[in-house]
Amino acid sequence: MDKVCPENYEPSPDLLAGRHILITGAGDGIGAALSRACASHGATVVLLGRTQSKLEKVYDQIVEADHPRPGIFVMDLERAGPDDYDQLSGAVMEAYGKLDGMVHNAGILGDRSPIEHYDVATWQRVMHINLTAPFVLTRTLFHLLRRSDDASVIFTSSGVGRIGKPFWGAYAVSKFGTEGLMQVLASEVDGSSNIRANAINPGPTRTAMRRAAYPGEDPESLKAPEEILSPYLFLLGPDGKSLNGKSLDAQ
Ligand code: NDP
Repeated sequence: MDKVCPENYEPSPDLLAGRHILITGAGDGIGAALSRACASHGATVVLLGRTQSKLEKVYDQIVEADHPRPGIFVMDLERAGPDDYDQLSGAVMEAYGKLDGMVHNAGILGDRSPIEHYDVATWQRVMHINLTAPFVLTRTLFHLLRRSDDASVIFTSSGVGRIGKPFWGAYAVSKFGTEGLMQVLASEVDGSSNIRANAINPGPTRTAMRRAAYPGEDPESLKAPEEILSPYLFLLGPDGKSLNGKSLDAQ
């Protein structure tokens, strides 16, 4: 897809200083690595995820490294209702008064199964966590993005969200939907606000989700989450300010 992040992009140490960035699925995998990287570049990160102990571990790592103290918001995107979203919105407003970045990273794989046999309840769960929750989060927190001088929203795509492949079921369809949601939002904010929206396909990355999808694969043959973060930092900081409506590959 679009190759718009410079090949050897070197984010400056204070790239994200003064920015407040919410990251979902911040307790593990790519989200945890990205949270630490954003904090190391000066951002105050809101760590959102469903497992408190995992979020606390990332929180401790960031504080121990002497980076800006993050916030923690425990939220199960499968079960969250209007009250939970309002509580999140109120807490971010009270603590920071704005949001300069939002990374929709949380996701689940669901089943690998032909459509003919795909479990309906699993389908709905995957679509809800991977696609509906980013919509509701964006809608609920939009007023906080509007209060930023330069707000960047990143959606997480996948190779199977661009070309249909057998047996990827709801996961693939949710990622197609994610690309669509990003494009709709990007076209709405284009030229009329300080908000921009783009997507990133991380590519094969050494995480629990990848292990579940490809159990026979040697994890050491894959890049670690820490090695794929340049396009995220590029889009979250001022260097990516001109980009809106793009879908990037991280590798
Ligand atoms: P992981 O499984 O390692 O991490 C996923 C994160 O999402 C976890 O922190 C998990 O929380 C969180 N999460 C899952 N369900 C919920 C929920 N209901 N509420 C809140 N948080 C939830 O996956 P990756 O880091 O690999 O994936 C990150 C993103 O990148 C996903 O959107 C994925 O689709 C995408 N991606 C990954 C690729 C890869 O090769 N790794 C390739 C292409 C795309 P917890 O740990 O508490 O379960």
